[in-house]
This record gives sequence, C-alpha cells and structure tokens, in this order.
Amino acid sequence: MRLEDLPLRDDLRGRTPYGAPQIDVPIRLNTNENPYEPSKALVDDLAEEVRRSAATLNRYPDRDAVELRADLAAYLGHGLTGEQVWAANGSNEVLQQILQAFGGHGRSALGFEPSYSMHPIITSGTSTEWVDGMREEDFTLDPGKAVAAIEEHRPGIVFLTSPNNPTGTALPMATIRAVLEAAPGMVVVDEAYAEFAREGTPSALTLLPEFPRMIVTRTMSKAFAMAGTRVGYLAAHPAVVQALLLVRLPYHLSTLTQVAARTALRHRAELLGGVAALRRERDATVAWLRAQGLTVADSDANFVLFGRFEHRKAVWQGLLDRGVLIREVGPPQWLRVSIGTGEEMAAFRAALEGVLRERA
Ligand code: PMP
Repeated sequence: MRLEDLPLRDDLRGRTPYGAPQIDVPIRLNTNENPYEPSKALVDDLAEEVRRSAATLNRYPDRDAVELRADLAAYLGHGLTGEQVWAANGSNEVLQQILQAFGGHGRSALGFEPSYSMHPIITSGTSTEWVDGMREEDFTLDPGKAVAAIEEHRPGIVFLTSPNNPTGTALPMATIRAVLEAAPGMVVVDEAYAEFAREGTPSALTLLPEFPRMIVTRTMSKAFAMAGTRVGYLAAHPAVVQALLLVRLPYHLSTLTQVAARTALRHRAELLGGVAALRRERDATVAWLRAQGLTVADSDANFVLFGRFEHRKAVWQGLLDRGVLIREVGPPQWLRVSIGTGEEMAAFRAALEGVLRERA
C-alpha cells in the first residue's frame, strides 16, 4: 500500500513532512542546536533526579507542570508568575496547542516568510488557512505593509518570529507594537532565539501588560542547550493559558521531562554561559563571510544566513563532502549555518574556502 491509497485528509495530500536531514557527519551545523554538551556536574545532577523520580513512574505526572512553570516564570523575570506561563514538549507543541485553541477550520494564520517552516506546517495540520505576508528584500518587515496584510486577511493568529529563522533578523519594538495594535486576534511572537539577540534588542515580554492577546514563545532547545529534552514554553495572559488547557492532552509533559527541565533551570548559569561565546562566534562568522565577498544577513540568533549562490545545492554538497553539514533553507541562493564551537567554525571556514576555491 502507498501513502496515496490511504483515506488521508484532502488538505494533507501531496504535502512533505518537516525534514532537516539527520546525517551522521563530523561537523553538524544544520539545526541551530547548541554545540556545548552538558557538564559532568549537570549530567550527575540529572541522573540523580531521574533516579529519584523513577520511583514514582507508576503515577501520572503533574498534569499542569506547576513547579516547572513557576521556575520558568522566575527565569523570564518581568514580574511573571506561573499562571502566565505554559510549557509543552518543545515550542513546536506549544505552537500546535495555540493553533488548536485559536485557529481551526474557517480561520487563518498570517506569517511573514521566509520564516520558520513549522509555522505553516502546524497551521495546515490544524486545518487553519495559511497566509503568507512578505518580508522586504533585506528580510525586515515593513510595519505599514504588515498592518495592511492584517487588515486585508483579518487573521485569527499572526506569527512574528524575532529573531527570525532562517534569516536571523530581529524585529524593532515599534513593528511588533504596530502589529499588536492592528491584529484582530492573537499575536504569537516566536522568540526561540531571544537569548542570542545583540545588545539593545529587547524582548516582546515588555509589551505583555499592554497587550493581553500577545503570546511570547520560548524554548530550552537553543540557549539552554537542552534540545534533546524537548521543552518549550510561553508567557501570556493567564486566560490564554486557560484556553490551552482545553486542547492539551492530559499528562502531555512526562515526569522525566519536567524533572530534567527543572534541573537544567537550576544549572542555568552554566548552560547560558555558552551564549556569550556563541554570540561572539556568530559576529566573527558574519565578518569573515563578508570578508569573503559574500552577502550576509545581520543576525541576532545562533545561525547566519549567507549567499548568494547560483547553485546553492552544489555549495551545500561541497561542504558535506568535506564533513560539514549546514542547511539548505530559506530563499533560493542562500544557505544557513548554525554557530558551533570555535573548532567547528574553523572547520566550516576551511571547508567553505575549499568549496569557493574549487568553484572559482
Ligand atoms: N521556533 C523557531 C523559530 C525555531 O527555529 C524552532 C526550532 N528550530 C522552534 C520554534 C522549535 O523549537 P523546539 O520545538 O525545539 O522548542
């Protein structure tokens, strides 16, 4: 039997699943992971906490992850409390719950592409119509055009991604504010990369008291170097959290996940310690790529979008042949490299020099 032979939903026919290649190569700079492994102290603490909670695994977890949410609120600051925070298995699940609660048949979600590819996938997965508002040539968002798109489509949900994936572009507060003032429904500000922003790029969290229909999503996958734990979260008005309780699966966040996330939060000084190094490495990568005569988008994230290549696939393949996996994503002619350790970035530079020399 083939996929086409199944009684699949009509709106899922012909679609492709999310698919960043998981290829086993020495240098993996393709999914914006954090390159720093947990320290021995953290591994030992995690093992001990998991051992302790293993004795209660005959019971369901805390359905509302009350302690974890309080810990996340304390991390975010801004006077937030646990009632304003919600957590799930990665910010992808948080986004899916938002779409389940506020999207659905007959409603639309507007995003500004190029942006995170899962936003349209989660949108259509919940039978919500996806509307693509466009970014400018330099990947910024024109507030006037954004407001016009909102007025034209009246979306139930607007996605803003800041810093944006795959371009690295952060949005000025004035643009976020203009969208919040125009949007008739919910506005999701996806801040998966917030901790990597350059000096002077404030979080949309500062706008929460003013705009109760705004949701700021975050993740422990990037700055916290905990991608394997699968914990994403949001900050919003407590009523928004109540709405999400209507669609979440009972006991969605396992006991082990909650314990691992709380342990990681206790070790946040160590985990977030890598962020400053990654920001420096990012800025050096941008400068180096520009010095090679390449076009590079300014980045507030832990990755850099660069180009422009007539045959980007060949450049991507040339790097892979040299043991460096980056990502063929975003507009045609551009490639994205995640920021790794100093050694990994040296390997990336050497490989790219080789590819460029070969193709010159
Ligand atoms: N939002 C953005 C913009 C992302 O780039 C990613 C991960 N690539 C996510 C959300 C989802 O991350 P996670 O599910 O690991 O929290």
